[in-house]
Parts: sequence; C-alpha cells; structure tokens
Amino acid sequence: MFVDTVWEVFAGIFGAMLGSFLNVCVYRLPRNESVIRPRSRCPSCGTSIAWYDNVPLVSWLALRARCRHCRASISVRYPLVELAVALIWAGSVIVAGVTTEALAAAVFLTLLLGIALTDGRHYVIPDLFSLGGLALGLVFAFLPSDRSWYLAPLGAALGYGLLWVVRAVGDAALRRGLIGGKELDTVLEEGEQPTTMGEGDLRMMAMVGAFLGPAGVLLTVFLGALVGSVVFLPLRLAGKHIAVPFGVFLAAGAAVALVFGPGLVAWYTSTVLAL
Ligand SMILES: [Zn+2]
Repeated sequence: MFVDTVWEVFAGIFGAMLGSFLNVCVYRLPRNESVIRPRSRCPSCGTSIAWYDNVPLVSWLALRARCRHCRASISVRYPLVELAVALIWAGSVIVAGVTTEALAAAVFLTLLLGIALTDGRHYVIPDLFSLGGLALGLVFAFLPSDRSWYLAPLGAALGYGLLWVVRAVGDAALRRGLIGGKELDTVLEEGEQPTTMGEGDLRMMAMVGAFLGPAGVLLTVFLGALVGSVVFLPLRLAGKHIAVPFGVFLAAGAAVALVFGPGLVAWYTSTVLAL
C-alpha cells in the first residue's frame, strides 16, 4: 500500500519534469531549434533561467508567473502542461500499477499532448513525436504483455495507409474544386501544393497504430473525425475559414480510444449491432 503510493508520487514528479521538457519541445521543435541546447531562456529578455527558477509547477508559483529579471509574464500554459503530464503519469500508475502497460500508456498520452499542442498552435506535428513515438510503440510491443506483438506493426501500417487513402481522395476533390481549399493557403509555404492533410498526420497515425493496434486506429479516426466535425462544421457554416489542425482531433480521439477503447467497442457491438 505504502509502496504503491511512493510509486504514484514518483510517477507524478517524473511526469512534471517530463512536462517541463515537453514545454521546451513544443516551443522549439516547430521553430527547428535544438531541444537540448541552449538551456531555457526567458523569451522576453533572453536571460538563462537558473535551475531554481525552472522547477516544474513550483517556480511558476514562486515567481508569481513573472520572469525574475524582466518581470515579463510567463504563460499559465507552462505549469498547466507540467500538471497535465504529472497527472498522466501518476494516473497511469494508479490505474495500471507499475507495469509495462502503465509506462506505454503514459508515454503515449504524453506524445499525444505534445502533438495536440504543436499542431493546435503551429499546424506542425514534429517527427520527434510521430516517428520517435512510432519507434517507442514498436519497442513496447516486443516487451512482455498479454497483447500480440504483430498488432503494433499492423496498426502502424493501417494508420499510415488509411490516412494516405483519405488524403488522396481529399486532394482529388480539392483539385476538382469539390471542396474549398482557400483556408489551406494560410499554412502553405512557397512552392507547396495545397493538400487536405500534412505528412505529419500520416506519421502520427502510424505512431497511434503502433500503440493501439488496427482496431484502435479505426476507433481513433472515427472519433477524431466526429469531434473535428462537431467543432468545425458550425465555423464552416458560419462562413469562417480556419485551417483544421486535424492532429488535435486525432490526438483527442486516440486518447479516448486508449482509455475507453475496449469498453466502447463492446458497447457498440452489444447495443448498436445487437450481437
Ligand atoms: Zn525575462
């Protein structure tokens, strides 16, 4: 009992530190900067942040959300991300114990949060999260668990392939003018062809497939499309043109698929299909 609590607290503290690093990744990766060097600086005055001003959650509170040197305010987003990752890691251990499953779930949810943050703010899904996560997901599949190892590579292939097909169909419709592409111009760099979906979304779904398997991929895409439609359809109907950060909705769908996936599928087959 006591040992369990120690592990849960340890997981929470580790999660907060990982959340701090996730903040660095979310800030720097879309800017093509190294996540290792240099050490963290204040974005306003450029002063290096001392270790005691960089303690997850605690420093933001102690500094009252201001830089020690220039008094520029520090966004509440930073401690919130640290708190979220702390809860992800502590929660995974509370639910699944000190197991490989808990570790895989915590890593997966942390990656999804990173993807949602970078895609939501910059329309970018860094390869470190997608391809790095794909590699981790495949490694986890070969660790001892009650899941068959081949579901990971199969899921990764399905995740990438399914979105490849969706994008091919979407781009064909875009070229024929069947769907609007105007809002996509905002995120295009010079020389880029308009497309309905970035390569990052495809790579991300390969990662999701490695963690959740083929059934999880289908559930994630279904849930992602559902949530995306609910959020963006009213905006479209109101005539607002906003580029869709599809990765945000896929990340939300994947998180739900991880936590409720088996239960959702069982509910669907027993209730809707009445099997
Ligand atoms: Zn400063």
